[in-house]
Amino acid sequence: MSLACYAVQSNTTLGRVHSEPVEPTQSGRNPFQRDRDRIIHSTAFRRLEYKTQVFLNHEGDHFRNRLTHSLEVAQIGRAVARRLQLNEDLVEAISLAHDLGHTPFGHAGQDALNECMKEHGGFEHNLQSLWVVDFLEERYAKWDGLNLSYETREGILKHCSAKNAQTLGLLGQRFINGMQPSLEAQLANLADEIAYNNHDIDDGIRSGLLTIEQMDEVALWRDQKDIVQRSFPGLSGRRMVYEVVRHIIHVLVDDLVKETQQRIKAANPLSVDDVRKEKSLVAFSGPMREQATEMKRFLFKNLYRHPQVNEMTKNASEMIVALFNHFEKYPQDVPSDFRPKDEIYRRISHYIAGMTDRYANKEFQKLITK
Ligand code: MG
Repeated sequence: MSLACYAVQSNTTLGRVHSEPVEPTQSGRNPFQRDRDRIIHSTAFRRLEYKTQVFLNHEGDHFRNRLTHSLEVAQIGRAVARRLQLNEDLVEAISLAHDLGHTPFGHAGQDALNECMKEHGGFEHNLQSLWVVDFLEERYAKWDGLNLSYETREGILKHCSAKNAQTLGLLGQRFINGMQPSLEAQLANLADEIAYNNHDIDDGIRSGLLTIEQMDEVALWRDQKDIVQRSFPGLSGRRMVYEVVRHIIHVLVDDLVKETQQRIKAANPLSVDDVRKEKSLVAFSGPMREQATEMKRFLFKNLYRHPQVNEMTKNASEMIVALFNHFEKYPQDVPSDFRPKDEIYRRISHYIAGMTDRYANKEFQKLITK
């Protein structure tokens, strides 16, 4: 299918830091398919399986982890990209890589590591994801990192502080002058939101931390549940939850496509450069934005701050802080071949951020509770 003029075109990519020969166009992969393949083969990608999304990895076999979350983001992103004639391969690459820099133990781990790093440059998980693909993966003879295309790296760096942006050259520019990334990057960001809001409802109910009755507080849920119950009177339990969640994803995606089409029509961008100068064009409509935000707030209050989740958050934070303090005191316990030239605090931060939940647990048991 041909791409729209405002999509990122594979043959006009801004390229890689280290130039590489292109694959023959007839049989070869385009640059973003190559990026996606490199991401899938990376060590950091495999580690996502053992990193917490919301529920700890060992709490149940059916909860999302960062790997299955990333796959759901890619699936939603690709489906929307096709409808908007955007570059599906690029959206897929960004989606699969967007959480590579996450610490163990979800947001609790990230906040704790950021706190530990406060005096030493801080910890930002988006920037960490970029560092993973830019230099922490060691797979090539000639360079560090995966040498991904500019547009994939642009999408991975969703947020960045102004201070760090100044160190990133062209890639950091938009955080300084308030410009947008490609539509593909904007889309991956919203696909992330659609994915986590919906799978967290599913996981929340499955875990028993949320009840179906409680969900009726949320307008999006209520409306779609009414529709499902009219179509299938008497449907209850898990099948009902799945039907409602599927309906919610569907209305969110539909709204996103329509609103984005309208914004594109009004702004009439003729190239990616035009897109970068506009306000964000991939968006929900006003009313849907409100409903999605209501759902997000509900999940924040009732799931992410649930006493049981808080308990896990507290333990996780303590573990990260203890590991950090340990490595600060005994830097020789950070593997010596691990970024030996970096300064010690950044080495510790990279090392802890790369850990899976269970590896962090194991290190904690081994080094601290001896
Ligand atoms: Mg995510």
